[in-house]
Amino acid sequence: MEKNNNVSNAKVTIKKSTYENLEIESLIEPLGGIDSFIKKGERVLLKTNLLNASEPEKSVVTHPNFIKKVAEEILKIDAIPFIGDSPSGPFSKRRLDKVYKKSGMIKISNELGIDLNYNTKTQKISIPNGKRLKKTSICNFVIEADKIISLPKLKTHSLMIMTLATKIMYGVIPGLTKARYHSMFIRKKAFSEMLIDILSIIKPDLIVMDGIISMEGDGPAGGNPVELGLALASDNSYAIDLAVCEILNIEPIGIPTLKDAKIRKLWPKNIKYPLLNPNDVKYDTFKLPSTAGYILTGKKIPDKYPIPNNNCTACGECVKLCPKKVIKIDENIAKIDYSKCIRCYCCHEICSYNAIKLEVRN
Ligand code: SF4
Ligand code: SF4
Repeated sequence: MEKNNNVSNAKVTIKKSTYENLEIESLIEPLGGIDSFIKKGERVLLKTNLLNASEPEKSVVTHPNFIKKVAEEILKIDAIPFIGDSPSGPFSKRRLDKVYKKSGMIKISNELGIDLNYNTKTQKISIPNGKRLKKTSICNFVIEADKIISLPKLKTHSLMIMTLATKIMYGVIPGLTKARYHSMFIRKKAFSEMLIDILSIIKPDLIVMDGIISMEGDGPAGGNPVELGLALASDNSYAIDLAVCEILNIEPIGIPTLKDAKIRKLWPKNIKYPLLNPNDVKYDTFKLPSTAGYILTGKKIPDKYPIPNNNCTACGECVKLCPKKVIKIDENIAKIDYSKCIRCYCCHEICSYNAIKLEVRN
């Protein structure tokens, strides 16, 4: 599935937008228009960020209005869009249904008459140039799609600092395998190298990023929504992530996936901005996760631990997901054995109740 691999030149389009006035056609037009990426009759996976069962207002998932507008462009050229992701937790029809309902996907599917993926089969794919993985399980709905448009939510990530176009493709890996990889690749460096391995075999044809209402602070699930009012598009995952770093004044080498991509010489040499330039839409007060390290903050940061609080409903989702099996429910609240916790923050990601904060332990 080797696709767009032009590391010399890349284009990123940036537009000020709201969910109501978003114009996907004019965002994509300078990249060649939707029909330069998609042909009539093709099945097009809208690889959405559906991290967990969250309402769109919380900014954990790609906003349904954003997805709807992209799907409408694909329908205009008689291609067949469908929505898919592998959320945190077991990759099962039951879990998908829960996530689709809460995130507003069922509503879009009904309004446009498009499919939501319920195929939970997977297959092994080899990664010829993998640094950390030589093969991996990939969800069949990804492999079977004719084209992939990824729709990342622009937001923070406590382990990887930002969830952008390079990180979103982790959702092509089935849920519990993702938890296992957290346990195998504990350090940021190893984890990000594994992510770039995956992106080397599953590349989106087009990326359209939802930066209208973003998330800052302790994302990807527990941060705060913040209005940036931006939609971005590119056919190059690294170029669009570099553009976001420039807008938010983030040192790109401080983002572990971008650092590994730089080492692998995957950064585009030139990025052209046919619409707005990052300097036109600078946002200087964006809050990074409290786990952001020295390069980004200039300060040594003490390790943060996941600490359950009274919002806990004892639903047990974090217990099932924890790769080290160090969480149990005791007296109706999650309790963690910190002596074995690897601080992968999977529990923080999956919790839909904002019941796990990342804090320094006394
Ligand atoms: S911390 Fe969150 S995911 Fe874990 S049991 Fe409590 S509510 Fe459920
Ligand atoms: S308790 Fe949370 S952070 Fe610690 S290993 Fe388990 S899932 Fe990862």
